[in-house]
Amino acid sequence: MGTWLATIRFPDGTERYADYSTVVESTYNPLYPEVRREGRDKAVGEPLPYDRDAPLSSPGEMVLVTVTQQPDDDVWRALYCPSRAMLVGPLSDFYRYALQEDYDLIRDDGGVRHLCRWADPPAICGAAPTGERLGLHFPSPGMHWNEETDGPYPTSPPAPDLFAEWNAPDICRPCLLAWLLTPEPITSPDPLPEPPSTWWTRAKRAWLG
Ligand SMILES: [Zn+2]
Repeated sequence: MGTWLATIRFPDGTERYADYSTVVESTYNPLYPEVRREGRDKAVGEPLPYDRDAPLSSPGEMVLVTVTQQPDDDVWRALYCPSRAMLVGPLSDFYRYALQEDYDLIRDDGGVRHLCRWADPPAICGAAPTGERLGLHFPSPGMHWNEETDGPYPTSPPAPDLFAEWNAPDICRPCLLAWLLTPEPITSPDPLPEPPSTWWTRAKRAWLG
């Protein structure tokens, strides 16, 4: 538990550094220009300025970066917003399980894959795809935390790093962005649900600040 180094690699080879908290499972803005590698690695230097209230860059301007988080070198792909000069997210590798828990991908007539909550259209971008469900969706216990192994339940199928496909021509970017930036609805399809994603919902609210 505690704070660990997250390394953010840009397409041009630039590296930035940030703190990752295992308490809320989230990488934190700001980014830092340097890293100190004595004892536990730490992001250091003058924090790079960012503006949470600046307009969001367009999807085409978002920069796909690679985040590597210590101590286990967990790696995932995330979006950096040049306008806000901040990491938009996902801010944790665990996002893959959250997506899998609640969403499926469904193709529209043009072949574009959209994210549909609980595998039901409409998509979160507003589109109404009518194709087959593509099999991402894996409801609980995928997201439930296993205290014994300190990880998701082993019954979870491999959860894809969907943001790695940001530049794929057939992935709906507005869906991915909407998923990142919109708080989870409170409603659930199950009667008397046990809140399915409590820790995740908490982490995500922390991201959304
Ligand atoms: Zn969409």
